[in-house]
Amino acid sequence: MKAAVARHTGLPFVPQPAPDELLGSWLLRVAQLYGLGIATLLSRLGARSAGDAHLPHWFAIDGSTVSLDALSAATRLPRVDLAAMAPPSCRPRRPEELGACESCLADATHADQPITWKRAWMSPLAVVCSAHGRWLTPVATRTQAGVRHAADFGGIVQQVAAAQAQLDNEPACAGDARWLQGLCTTRTAVRLPWGRTPPHDLIRIVDAVAREVIAASASGTGPLGLQADWRERSIKSFAFELGNAERVGVSLPTQLRQRQWVMARVAHVLRWPSEERAHFPSWSAASIKRLASTRNWPDGALGWICPPAAELVRQQDSLRREFSISPRYFKACASLLDSIR
Ligand SMILES: [Zn+2]
Repeated sequence: MKAAVARHTGLPFVPQPAPDELLGSWLLRVAQLYGLGIATLLSRLGARSAGDAHLPHWFAIDGSTVSLDALSAATRLPRVDLAAMAPPSCRPRRPEELGACESCLADATHADQPITWKRAWMSPLAVVCSAHGRWLTPVATRTQAGVRHAADFGGIVQQVAAAQAQLDNEPACAGDARWLQGLCTTRTAVRLPWGRTPPHDLIRIVDAVAREVIAASASGTGPLGLQADWRERSIKSFAFELGNAERVGVSLPTQLRQRQWVMARVAHVLRWPSEERAHFPSWSAASIKRLASTRNWPDGALGWICPPAAELVRQQDSLRREFSISPRYFKACASLLDSIR
């Protein structure tokens, strides 16, 4: 006997998803329209397998937790469109805080449109609104988790508006951050000042430069008045899926304000030649050595980011050619590293 899983014949009306709306945000709105909770809605549409008790938070709902085929049949929206609304994957956790754009939320309120949550806000690399160019305002993941109904977004909007009013905006830095964020979210090779760079390499470069930005800020004057031990407590690794099941990890602050600070400086370094930079025109000896020891930089990238590190790699290569891998090579290399202060 076949298990009878009735395909829902279709809801009489579904609100259209807003541009770049997150799947879970739209599902909350559909559920609200029918006076249901999101779990009940999904069960009634046959989008949940029977006996599957655990439904993730609304913002984490994707094709691995609900049946997009069943949703597509019930809402008459193409499956491919629903799949594109799923949040970007982020393992093993999401940051403590993600961001939302106060202007986007205010625009919806003023235009009498429903408040929706954007898919773009779900990435740890999202720090600036790509439409308004403003820094996103922190929203704690646990606040987001407290949303049960679409109407609960109103409370978050008030919090975001209050937090944004106190924010010290850095427009120039936001411009750099927006530039880098745009490149990081393109899933194809992008043009950087040193040449074409595939997404995998770009994320690795962001990770390497972010480590040095964080190291420099922890040893010198701390950013945002942070304590010296902020690194241990607040830097976490986030792994992104880049398509074709490839994953790449980045270590970034789990709090949005710190992540914005770091990403703006990483962006500044990647965007401007060292002689034109307001931040990191030069690097500490420790940073130069670490950057030089990072392998497989795309051609020209290291020379752009940190010219002395590229020079160090060149000198090490010429020692290897001269001495091959011999005790003399290691001795010469050690004294070369010692000479960098
Ligand atoms: Zn916006």
